[in-house]
Amino acid sequence: MPTSICPECDEEVYVDAESEQGDTVTCEECGAGLVVVGLDPIELDMKDDDDEDDYDDDGYGYDDDRY
Ligand SMILES: [Zn+2]
Repeated sequence: MPTSICPECDEEVYVDAESEQGDTVTCEECGAGLVVVGLDPIELDMKDDDDEDDYDDDGYGYDDDRY
């Protein structure tokens, strides 16, 4: 399985062999969302996601009947 280096923590990130440019992977070391920006060699870049998946620690996202 090909690997690349996480731009966030400099650890090796495993990239699926069938990944294509624009695919996203998650760094198992720091949890950063990364985008495949190059394939030969594999290059990863930080994904810009300001708005999605930000509800984890807010206390929102459950207790639907308590609005
Ligand atoms: Zn990382």
